[in-house]
Amino acid sequence: MAEILKGAPAAAALTEQLIRRAEALKERGVVPTLAILRVGEREDDISYETGARKRCAKVGVEVRQFLLPADGTKEQLLDAVREINADRSIHGCLMFRPLPDRDMENAACALLAPEKDVDGMTAGSLAAVYAGKGAGFAPCTAQAVMELLDHYGVALTGKRAVVVGRSLVIGRPVAMLLQQKNATVTMCHTRTADLPGECRRADVLVVAAGKAGVVTKDYVAPGQTVIDVGIHVGEDGKLCGDVKFDEAEGVVSAITPVPGGVGSVTTAVLCKHVIEAAERTAP
Ligand code: NAP
Repeated sequence: MAEILKGAPAAAALTEQLIRRAEALKERGVVPTLAILRVGEREDDISYETGARKRCAKVGVEVRQFLLPADGTKEQLLDAVREINADRSIHGCLMFRPLPDRDMENAACALLAPEKDVDGMTAGSLAAVYAGKGAGFAPCTAQAVMELLDHYGVALTGKRAVVVGRSLVIGRPVAMLLQQKNATVTMCHTRTADLPGECRRADVLVVAAGKAGVVTKDYVAPGQTVIDVGIHVGEDGKLCGDVKFDEAEGVVSAITPVPGGVGSVTTAVLCKHVIEAAERTAP
């Protein structure tokens, strides 16, 4: 049976550190503050927002909500971003993505002040992640994968890491972050010739394909650590990941559950980024 890499202990350890950093900021007269910018009432956005609010309350990060109707215009969205940029008491902004209108989303990402981009939305943040230097933050989910690996002491130097998925939000930044930790990284996608074979060769397998149960027992091998980033509502109405957990668990050394894995760490990473952004501007 594999070791189950639950997200909650990693998130709790990070939260403890962040509480102390938030207190230190408050002693310097700074209340770390996150703007949450949401367009519409998508159920998964609201559920993530509820989790983020709870984590922020625990850490001592203030939250300000900027809410637009589902049919809000590009100008309304850009006005909200301008307001966030101009407000010196706001240190970070989380905007729910993807927006139905990609043009609106791209315009908002381009307008956000880089120093308030705590979720890797702007080109500058992604460039910093790819260059391995600079002040930009990685997208929170990508960073949450790294926090989990770090919390459980998973070795990366010299190891073979395989990432399934090449999105700008998860796959690509995770691959870059793994490489910065000296893993030898292979990125897979829908055109990969032998996906099961590539996956089986991994020491660390990160799956962010966005397809429920795409990774079966034929894709995994003994000794592996498997990080499942996917999150879906299965046919039985229960949450499940991109990996068939019941099949993989009997083969690999360690695996994250869904729910209760990567997703549980993401809001703690969001708070970490807000606190870091606040520390950079604190007097
Ligand atoms: P995305 O933009 O749809 O990208 C999916 C990537 O996976 C693409 O690069 C695609 O390849 C690749 N892919 C899809 N099906 C594949 C297959 N059968 N074989 C190999 N590669 C395949 O998704 P995303 O935004 O990166 O999100 C990935 C997953 O993470 C989703 O399930 C999402 O719900 C979840 N998620 C979790 C959290 C969390 O906190 N846990 C947060 C955000 C998202 P191509 O490039 O060739 O199309």
